[in-house]
Amino acid sequence: MDNCSEKIILPTLDPIGQDLLDQAWAEVARQEAAYEPGEQEDLRCRIKQLLKEQDAVLVAHYYTSDDLQQLAEDTGGTVADSLEMARFGHEHPASTLIVAGVCFMGETAKILNPEKRVLMPDVQATCSLDLECPAHLFAAFCDAHPDYTSVVYANTSAAVKARADWVVTSGIALPIIKYLAEQNEKVLWAPDCHLGSYVQRETGVDMLIWPGSCVVHEQFKAEGIKTLKKSYPEAQVLVHPESPAEVVALADVVGSTTGLIQATLNPEVQEFIVATEPGIFYKMRQASPAKTFLEAPSGGLGGSCESCRRCPWMAMNGLRNLAQVLESGAHEIIIADEICQKALVPIQRMMDFAHNHQIVMKNKGNA
Ligand code: SF4
Repeated sequence: MDNCSEKIILPTLDPIGQDLLDQAWAEVARQEAAYEPGEQEDLRCRIKQLLKEQDAVLVAHYYTSDDLQQLAEDTGGTVADSLEMARFGHEHPASTLIVAGVCFMGETAKILNPEKRVLMPDVQATCSLDLECPAHLFAAFCDAHPDYTSVVYANTSAAVKARADWVVTSGIALPIIKYLAEQNEKVLWAPDCHLGSYVQRETGVDMLIWPGSCVVHEQFKAEGIKTLKKSYPEAQVLVHPESPAEVVALADVVGSTTGLIQATLNPEVQEFIVATEPGIFYKMRQASPAKTFLEAPSGGLGGSCESCRRCPWMAMNGLRNLAQVLESGAHEIIIADEICQKALVPIQRMMDFAHNHQIVMKNKGNA
C-alpha cells in the first residue's frame, strides 16, 4: 500500500490477518479435496436437479472455478462481473438466485432483487476490500468531509453502500469520476487505493482515497512482468486497475474483468500476460482456445507465488458447498429493509448513468 500513503488521511487500518486467510484456505482445501470416483459427476447431476426443483438459477463470477462457471452456463445461468450478475438475476424469472462469488456480490444481488431468495455456497466468502472498509469508519470519514461526494467501489458491504452517494464497478469508475470532475465535485473514494489512484491519475479530480487494497491484485510484480515479457515480446499485458501503479504502467490494456476478456478477442494478438485472478482464464480460453494466456508474476520479490494469484474467498465456492446449500437452504443473504433501500439509491444512480451514457462509454472504450 506504499504507493497510496501520500493520499491517506485516515487512521491506519488493521492489515488482513494471516489467520483469516488461513481459515479461507482451509475451507478451499475441503472444497478442493480429491473427489471419490464418480462424485464430481454425481454432484453436478444433483445440483442441476436441485436448481430445477428450487426454481433457482446459478450466477457465477469470472473468478470462480472452471467447474462452477461451466455449470452456470450449462444450466441457463451466467458467468459475469458483479454488476452483470445482479442484473442477470433481476431479469431472470427464477425466484432463487444462487450467487457463486463473494459476500458483497450476494448482497448486491439481494439489494437489486429484494423479492427473491439469494443463497451463496459460503457466506463467509468475503473480500479484503470489504473487510478493510467497516461501515462505522466509512461513515466517520464521510462526516469529516461533508463537502466531498462519496463514491464507493462495488466491493463494499451493503451498509457502506447505504452511506455512499455513488457505487461504481471497475468498468464504470472512470466515466463516472470524469463526470463528477466536470461538475467540479470533489470525490471521497473508498475502498481500493490502487483503483482510486488510477482514476485520480486519469481524471485529475480532487480526491481523498481510502487505504484499502485487494490481497490478490496488490501482489502483482512489475519486475516479474518485465522479465516474462522478455520471453514473450509480442504478448499484450492486460492489467486490472486494482493492481499497483507500477504494474498498471506496464499495461497495454487496463480494464475491468469484462474489459480484459474483451481485449483478448483482438484478432491481431495471440499472447497475453494477464494481471488479475486466474479464474478469468476460463472465459478467455473459451473465447480464444488457440491463444496463449500467461499469469502475471505475483507475490514476493521473485514474483512466483501460485497461491497469491488466487483469491482465497472466491476459491471457497465449490461443487460440494453449492449442492449443500441447495439442499439445506442455508447461507441466505438477509439485509435489513432500511439498508437495502438506502443502498439501492447509489447503485441505481450508477445503473442509470450506465444506461444514459452507453454510447459515450462504448466510444471511449470503457468496459
Ligand atoms: S480478488 Fe480481490 S477484490 Fe476480488 S474478491 Fe478477492 S480480495 Fe476481493
